[in-house]
Amino acid sequence: MLKKMSALVTGSTSGIGLGVARALAAEGADVVLNGLGDRDEIETIRAGVERDFGVKALYDGADMTKPAEIIEMIERTQGAFGKLDILVNNAGIQHVAPIAEFPTEKWDAIIAINLSSSFHTIRAAFPGMKERKFGRIINIASAHALVASPFKSAYVAAKHGVYGLIKVVALEGAEFGVTANAICPGYVKTPLVEKQIPDTAKARGMSEEEVVQKVILAAQPTRNFVAIEEVAALTVFLASPNSGSITGAAYQIDGGWVAQ
Ligand code: NAD
Repeated sequence: MLKKMSALVTGSTSGIGLGVARALAAEGADVVLNGLGDRDEIETIRAGVERDFGVKALYDGADMTKPAEIIEMIERTQGAFGKLDILVNNAGIQHVAPIAEFPTEKWDAIIAINLSSSFHTIRAAFPGMKERKFGRIINIASAHALVASPFKSAYVAAKHGVYGLIKVVALEGAEFGVTANAICPGYVKTPLVEKQIPDTAKARGMSEEEVVQKVILAAQPTRNFVAIEEVAALTVFLASPNSGSITGAAYQIDGGWVAQ
């Protein structure tokens, strides 16, 4: 479905981003992987994508807190593949703390990685997409783009901002074949969620098991984590040529969380 297309997925060395990159590659897209981590492990992941799906897979180590590196990554991608058709803004981090104790440097890092990096990737990729009259911009936002939870001030602010950004880009791209959409997952079991369980337990005065049952899964009427594969499948759908009229949308994939 995505043969001859090229895709870049930020934060794709782990979790949802890796699942999305592999799903795009499974449909025939060449992919650029990005994210932090051990270089040998990343090379194993990159080579695995090429081996499993017979596409080209590159790795770019741009740091999503650094605008100049982000711009260079987009330029390198366009240089390597001749174009960038599918941009998935996925890189993200979390920090959980009451607002009066929320570290300022965590606020700055979350706004930079979870929100501003999308501005920089889109700003750099948009002209080429517009010129070629085709582009698919997909942000892995969150249910927290639509509703709030206590103790996640930076994350909720950044994700609400992402949805606003996506709506603007949808309007600017509408006449040029460039769509922009947000995917809003509920809780997906990845390192990002596993790492916040101890801090949430501390902030709420609960055990870690209580956090999983009474905070995380209590938010989702299905009482199940969302699967990485489900988020990846929705991304593939939004990336495909026949989703051209879907733009400016926020797709909830949250086990019913936001419906409550
Ligand atoms: P994860 O921790 O497994 O992966 C995050 C990825 O971002 C990693 O590849 C990491 O290396 C990369 N990253 C972090 N800082 C970076 C930086 N400065 N520069 C480049 N890459 C960087 O987390 P995940 O759960 O897969 O999260 C992916 C996205 O999905 C995030 O935007 C997150 O907010 C969103 N999301 C996650 C959940 C969930 O429950 N896990 C729910 C909703 C939305």
